[in-house]
Amino acid sequence: MSDYIPQEIESKWQDKWEADGLYHANIDERKPKHYALTMLPYPSGDLHIGHWYAFIPSDAHARFMRMNGYNVMLPIGFDAFGLPAENAAIKEGIHPMKRTYENIERMRGQLRSMGAMWDWRREAISSNPEYYKWTQWFFSQLYKHGLAYRKMSPVDFCPNCNTTLAREQVWGDDRHCERCGTPVIKKDLAQWFFKTTAYADELLNYEGMDWPERVKVLQTNWIGRSEGALVTFKTVPSGDNKNGEPFEIFTTRPDTLWGVTFMVLSPEHPLVDKVTTSENRGEVEAYQAQAARQSDIDREAADKEKTGVFTGGYAINPVNGEKTPIWIADYVLMTYGTGAIMAVPAHDQRDFEFARKYGIEVRVVIQPNDMAPLDGASMPASVPATGRMVNSGPLTGTSADEAFHAAVKFVTEKGCGKGSINYKLRDWLISRQRYWGAPIPMIYCEKDGWNPVPDAELPVLLPEDVAWKPTGESPLKLHPTWKQAKCPVCGEAAERETDTMDTFMCSSWYHLRYLSPHYDKGPFDPKEYDYWMPVDTYTGGIEHANMHLIYTRFFHKALRDMGITEGPEPMIQLRNQGMVLGEDNEKMSKSRGNVVAPDELVERFGADAVRAYLMFFARWDMGAPWNSSGIDGTVRWLRRVWVLITSSAQIKSARQPLGFFKADVPDDEIADAMLANAAISRENTRAFRRHVHQMLKRITRDFKQFEFNTIVSGLMELLNEMYAAREAGEVGTPAWNEAMDIYLRMLAPVAPHIAEELWTNVLGKTYSVHTQTWPVVDEEAVKEDEITIPVQVNGKLRDRVVVPADAGEEDIKSAALASDAVQKFLEGKPPKKVIVAQKKLVNIVV
Ligand SMILES: [Zn+2]
Ligand SMILES: [Zn+2]
Repeated sequence: MSDYIPQEIESKWQDKWEADGLYHANIDERKPKHYALTMLPYPSGDLHIGHWYAFIPSDAHARFMRMNGYNVMLPIGFDAFGLPAENAAIKEGIHPMKRTYENIERMRGQLRSMGAMWDWRREAISSNPEYYKWTQWFFSQLYKHGLAYRKMSPVDFCPNCNTTLAREQVWGDDRHCERCGTPVIKKDLAQWFFKTTAYADELLNYEGMDWPERVKVLQTNWIGRSEGALVTFKTVPSGDNKNGEPFEIFTTRPDTLWGVTFMVLSPEHPLVDKVTTSENRGEVEAYQAQAARQSDIDREAADKEKTGVFTGGYAINPVNGEKTPIWIADYVLMTYGTGAIMAVPAHDQRDFEFARKYGIEVRVVIQPNDMAPLDGASMPASVPATGRMVNSGPLTGTSADEAFHAAVKFVTEKGCGKGSINYKLRDWLISRQRYWGAPIPMIYCEKDGWNPVPDAELPVLLPEDVAWKPTGESPLKLHPTWKQAKCPVCGEAAERETDTMDTFMCSSWYHLRYLSPHYDKGPFDPKEYDYWMPVDTYTGGIEHANMHLIYTRFFHKALRDMGITEGPEPMIQLRNQGMVLGEDNEKMSKSRGNVVAPDELVERFGADAVRAYLMFFARWDMGAPWNSSGIDGTVRWLRRVWVLITSSAQIKSARQPLGFFKADVPDDEIADAMLANAAISRENTRAFRRHVHQMLKRITRDFKQFEFNTIVSGLMELLNEMYAAREAGEVGTPAWNEAMDIYLRMLAPVAPHIAEELWTNVLGKTYSVHTQTWPVVDEEAVKEDEITIPVQVNGKLRDRVVVPADAGEEDIKSAALASDAVQKFLEGKPPKKVIVAQKKLVNIVV
């Protein structure tokens, strides 16, 4: 009997599987298809344990589906554009292209070491021109269909270095420039956007999607749909504001319009300059400057103290004609809604705190039915808005429920507002002032404006000869000739767009490129699309719930409306894994020194042990801190599997028709087991088969439910049963052979190498274990043995019921009450008492 040496068998099988094309996924109309997709890695150069934790269970599940008769495709590729490679280029002078492709080469080796069923022929790399040609083509399509547009939008800017900065280049709480320490300001820059908001309502519809509830909740909140009204306020004319310019606000509570006591504009609102009086100008400008230095996230933070400045200007409340002071405050963002709000301090806590801080009136307009009359001057906090309307003109006396619609009707009839729906979702900012991305394929001509690069001229290739200067400007902008182009309309000299695309654009459609990564007549081969799409199972981290998973849904829907894709959604089922933390319970990071290197583990224990341990050590959707001592148990288990199967294979060959032992049977124990064979009882065999089939049933269910930890613990448990059965002399019987067969098939998705070696080489079964079918549960074998229990009614025997041997008291009671004979004596009345005496007798008292 040879020892279990994973390093010897694993690379051997990986090579053979590869040579045989065992995992090639080809269109096969005779079989149902299963497109298994897992989020593609960024080529950082090192596959970390988190990748393994995401990929291995995804692979195991794909293998399970394959054994269940599906034609399974599991592709892999690289999300290869992005900032880290460019930053490294600036620091170390290595070209991002060189670095990226070296990293990819190294990671391919790591990905191969997993023994996963990747179809490498379908590998797609987003930075390959044959890929980004179509990323650019999609941009043009979106532009031509009115879903891409250009508008001014703020970026972080260093006034000292005179450049725009990426988010990563802004440091510290005071948000200073990474290079010179100057406080960063916001500067408006013309940038490209996709109209994701056009699909906001459709994105809220999750019909037919088997996605985790929490992802749907996260997306719903991100989209943030709210119903309310748009109301126009005029301003009181003064100074520069001769005509009393109007502005719009969105409110979800138009019923509280009579309780407005001040208005707040975002510091960036265009009206601020006009309404600010000369006495207030100094203070207003100082406040605007400090607001510009903060990020939107900081400004909106719930725990941040609300501050503001009075402009000296006034608005007129259209419902009652009142003069209302206009303030500016940094918690109101220009990018959300209209950049202006009405404040109702009596019924909104944020407005309340602001009003109390600055001594502004608090006016009650809703009186809750169960509270003493509210007094705006003395109330200690705002009061939630339910009850009866007071001080509200024509709305006074209505209930708060009716008031919403009454108020919308009122402002509509008055011509100062209308019902409206607002979304938190914003259009997708695509522009990056960066080199290492897909160039936006647009050309600007003085005469003809912006036009897309003609399709025949795609891809717009990235130039390789660029200089890495730490200027913060895109090397594309600094390149001497690259941006020179011909106008597609008039043919005169024109200029290219030098911005590149957000890498989320590349990853919005990679699942389509996998279909045919080298196809050159379109982004994908329609034949492949028709067979494989939509994605059946998508796996990846929950952190992508909002950006990637919304973008990719938007992308699919926009393409569908252009006739490029089909169906409502790109991915039917989504499953998220949790996170592997360091042993110190912290997020893994190089600086903390708590990173677990999977390569070392594979070298020491083999890929199968690492695979099985990653499935075993935590609930997959939860994640857990890494525990390095735990893997030993998994290694021991695999070794025991090896010993059991190899030794019983020898018994099998020892029992040749000639009836003598081969010389190399080493183990006295095995011989004993054989001799005991004759004595095994039929009850023992039945119990053994019951264990096997019950476990098969459980593991089948767990695979369907992505509960990988109980799959591995189930296999461990069953192995113990098999050792016990060996002790009982079961080796060599049909039940034993069946158990080995089932065990290896169930092991194959978890630990594909050892399963293959034991299946093909040790037991000599048909290669490959991975093309076998999933074993079928024998429901007869699963059934527990049954017992018969007499049932008495008022002490007289009336029936006997048959129940499973392990039935509980409640099961026995309901079986007894379900008996027709018993029901006859109950005469339709509920029994006074049902007594179950130790599974031996049921007595019913009526
Ligand atoms: Zn600077
Ligand atoms: Zn032109």
